[in-house]
Formats: sequence, C-alpha cells, structure tokens
Amino acid sequence: MARPRVGVLSLQGDFARHGAALAGLGAEPVRVSRPEQLRDLEAMIVPGGESTTMLRLLEATGLRAPLEAFVRSRPVLGTCAGLVLLAKEAGELPAPTLGLLDVSVERNAYGRQVDSFSCPIQVPALGGPFDAVFIRAPRIRRVGAGVEVMACASDGEPVAVRAGLAAGLAFHPELTPDRRFHRWFLTELAGLALPAERAGAATAQGSGGRA
Ligand code: GLN
Repeated sequence: MARPRVGVLSLQGDFARHGAALAGLGAEPVRVSRPEQLRDLEAMIVPGGESTTMLRLLEATGLRAPLEAFVRSRPVLGTCAGLVLLAKEAGELPAPTLGLLDVSVERNAYGRQVDSFSCPIQVPALGGPFDAVFIRAPRIRRVGAGVEVMACASDGEPVAVRAGLAAGLAFHPELTPDRRFHRWFLTELAGLALPAERAGAATAQGSGGRA
C-alpha cells in the first residue's frame, strides 16, 4: 500500500518531530518550504514555532498564496503557532493569518516559555484523556458557529477545535509519544488509509486500535 504523502510546513519551528510522528504512523512526511513541494500532498501540518516568523517567511518564500489555496481544499492540522496561522483573528501580526478556522486566539496567553506545562485533557474523539503540552500557547477566546470544540482544558476553555477539513490545537501533540492525535488527523479527518504502522513506533497508548 502506498504511503500517503503528508506535508509539514518547514520554515521554522517544530517540523522535525511532526515528521517523525507521521513516519511512525506509516505516512510519508514531506518538508514544505517552497511552493512546488505542495504538489501531490494529501494533507498538511502547520507546526508550532513562532507565528510572526512563520508569517514573514511565508511572504518571503512566495509560499503564502499556494499554501492558502492548498489548505482551503485539503486537510490541515495546525498546532500552537500553527493554530494561530489558521485562526481568523489573532491580534497584531506582521501579515494576515490564513483565516481558515473561525476562531479568535490570543497569542502567548498561557504565559511565557518558563510557564510551559502539560496536563491531561479529555478528548472524546480519541476515546479518553490526552497529555497536552502547552508552550507559550494561544488561548482560544472565541469559537464561531460551525466550529466544533474537540477538547477543553480543566478551566473549560477550548484547546482543540475543528471545522470541515481543518483542525487546530493550542498544544503540541508531537512532543509526547502518544500518536493518537496524529492518527486521528490522518485517518478520521483526512480520511487517509495508513499502511501498517512501523513496529515499535507507536506507544502502547498510541497503538490501542482506537483510531
Ligand atoms: N507564542 C507562539 C506564537 O504565537 C506560539 C508558541 C508555540 O508554537 N509553541 O507564535
């Protein structure tokens, strides 16, 4: 069975770990830093990092318009800064966001790098709790009609949302060995078929057959 080719925006940020997560699940990760690399991809991940830098680099590389066109018709997962890029409103930034998810986010609203934390969140779509790592995470302050909240933090604030073929997470699923969010994205949201996962690549939690 062919491995689905899944792009990871690789201008800056945590693209390598997303690539490893995809490879572990049997997909073929493709680093995207130039427009032509979007060709023949089934889906895209926009990683965490620094949204201001990524927006500047999107303009500088000429990737912005083709990426915008891609994510309007194909599955996309944005994590942390990636959620900022997908959001409709995210405050002052050097360029407009892609505006795909009708949410308003407040950048860095969980505090500074030293205030990073992880906590279990309940994710019904994954069948239970998921350990979420928050690093200078955006807070989702408004969720528009038509956007589904997939998970909330213990304070009741949404931390994972989806609408159509787009999903956005305030946290970093690539920083824990649990691959259920990546698998959910590939199989449930993107509808991709995965070849057998690489032996040992998934954790017990991540290989429980819950996809
Ligand atoms: N604070 C960053 C931003 O707004 C996001 C941090 C992250 O991706 N870990 O771009």
